[in-house]
Amino acid sequence: MSRNRYPLRRLAAALSLVALAGCTGMNTTQSGAIGVNRTQYMSSMVPSQALEQEANQQYADILKQAKAKNLLDRDAQQVARVRAISQRLIAQTGVFRPDASAWKWEVHVLTSDEINAWCMPGGKIAVYTGLINKIKPTDDELAAVLGHEISHALREHARERVSQQMATNLGLQVLSIATGSSAASDLGGKLSDVMFTLPNSRTHETEADRMGVELAARAGFDPRAAVTLWQKMGAADNGSAPPEILSTHPSAASRISDLQGAAQQVLPLYQQAKGRTAR
Ligand SMILES: [Zn+2]
Repeated sequence: MSRNRYPLRRLAAALSLVALAGCTGMNTTQSGAIGVNRTQYMSSMVPSQALEQEANQQYADILKQAKAKNLLDRDAQQVARVRAISQRLIAQTGVFRPDASAWKWEVHVLTSDEINAWCMPGGKIAVYTGLINKIKPTDDELAAVLGHEISHALREHARERVSQQMATNLGLQVLSIATGSSAASDLGGKLSDVMFTLPNSRTHETEADRMGVELAARAGFDPRAAVTLWQKMGAADNGSAPPEILSTHPSAASRISDLQGAAQQVLPLYQQAKGRTAR
């Protein structure tokens, strides 16, 4: 076999490495009691601020469209419940990153049959009524979902994923010059892809699970509820279609045992928090 059989593919791979070399290694969050610690590579082509601006724009568009169809914050009691739980979690985000308290957090409920929830970069949260009505989460379980989504944003997983795409894309662009195909590289499109279409990596899921459990415990929500929550999510896959949230947040076979371990680890934090509220 010729060594030069795939010269373009090799060139693209090499350029991806060059692009990755242009990335900065960092840890977006402090490790917390749960000990999430991994070097993340962020592309200079994906500054936090630019991605947040894109997120703000997309969030505003989604709210505007929902409002036009009368699908935004329809049930005041439901909105109040989701916001109250979110606020308690947001109040604990400083343990992972002190700057998060200054984020412009927003929380809205969208009327949709989809079982879904997300938090965009910079703290823009949405919970779908399908999740509330079909999963029927307890407050502790709702805190588990929200803690997980908030953690993706704290850890800037979207920025990391877009960075990886940019690196791959740079290689593809050189290929496209050679092959005549096009490879778009718009930040907004990529953010939308990673937020609403492409699955998170197992690493990102595990980090969001663990950080989310700690946020919940510190906020006085039973961290063990993350176990029952994701069990309910799995059971909601009745053979027709799995919950939308599982397409972007894939559940690994080890998830339940990982969550059980993490919940035990932060149980003292939960008990302390409960003790404080009881006084
Ligand atoms: Zn996730």
